[in-house]
Amino acid sequence: MISMQILGGFQEYGKNCFLIEHQETGTRIMLDCGVQNGQPEVYPPLTPEIAQSLDAVFLSHVHNDHVGALPLLADKGYEGPIWLSEASYVQIGPIQQRWKQKSAVPYQAGAGDTLHFTPFSPATKGQRIIMTDNLSFEWGHSGHMLGSVWYIIHLGGTSLFYSGDMVLDSVTFQTETPTQSSFQLAIIDSGHGGQVTSCQASEQALLKALENPDGSYRIPVSPSGKACDLILTVYQRFPDRRLFLDPALREHLSDCLSYAANLRPGMKEQLTNLLADGRIACITSDQASASGIYFTNRRLEGTKMIPIDSPAHPEFFYKAHPDLKDVEKLLGGIQAEQLVFFHSKPKDFTKLIAHIPKKLILNGGVYL
Ligand SMILES: [Zn+2]
Ligand SMILES: [Zn+2]
Repeated sequence: MISMQILGGFQEYGKNCFLIEHQETGTRIMLDCGVQNGQPEVYPPLTPEIAQSLDAVFLSHVHNDHVGALPLLADKGYEGPIWLSEASYVQIGPIQQRWKQKSAVPYQAGAGDTLHFTPFSPATKGQRIIMTDNLSFEWGHSGHMLGSVWYIIHLGGTSLFYSGDMVLDSVTFQTETPTQSSFQLAIIDSGHGGQVTSCQASEQALLKALENPDGSYRIPVSPSGKACDLILTVYQRFPDRRLFLDPALREHLSDCLSYAANLRPGMKEQLTNLLADGRIACITSDQASASGIYFTNRRLEGTKMIPIDSPAHPEFFYKAHPDLKDVEKLLGGIQAEQLVFFHSKPKDFTKLIAHIPKKLILNGGVYL
């Protein structure tokens, strides 16, 4: 039997961290180890007992709400492997630097340097990676950002599915569906599960807002699938405009080319063209240098910000998680004895479970 302790991420948007135990063998794993973004950040309740009893940690991707508490886990005594995709691993170095610059953290400075990352190569997709007789796993691309994956994890004779953060219809990134359908436990991203969104409508609203060819606009994004989708879309729709990218975003797009198996067919060529195009430049100061469209989270004088993540502007809302239709689609191929929906705020969660058919629950199991 599998038991689960939710350390964060249930009925909240952030702090994703799940502790799973196979009771017969005592094998214990952790799925993601994130913080709740904000000032201050909120950490999951990690203890030495938890940290020192784990056999492995699995990371779905490198966003802060999935990896930000790793230094705390190390500080509490975890020394084991941290599995992640190679494309996630190449993004970890700058994150470790940022951990060192944070103040008022609940762990000793430098704790994040002692972590043992164990990347798996693109060639292992669809294969079973065996750690011990009781612990093995498979993975597939989850479409949320560069390096993001879902896992099927086999614990003793049981198996669980963890979607990580998932996007089924990213412009840029590949999404695969799990190769197995029946699980003891399935933990499913339902970040936008309380609504049905139209990416096309948001895209149209965004392109309309950028219409003035002499204007300077800023789209606030950090490296993510959403950022890549928006940059590629704007680049293609406005062939005469200049695009300015935050240096971290430009590097992120180069990393995407190095791990092209993450990309949808045709996207490698489009990204190559974009990066070689003279109308794409890096942002080098806090001031807009010319008219064009700027992609950065930094404040930039002389630009009009397009509020893509503001509740006051739902017309620009661009999906980064499954909405209700996506969750339904994903569940079309999955049955589980315990079905857990994570990454949704209480309001969205309540709306979602009112729509989920009970027949997906096996053997009289439960969903949370
Ligand atoms: Zn994410
Ligand atoms: Zn997330």
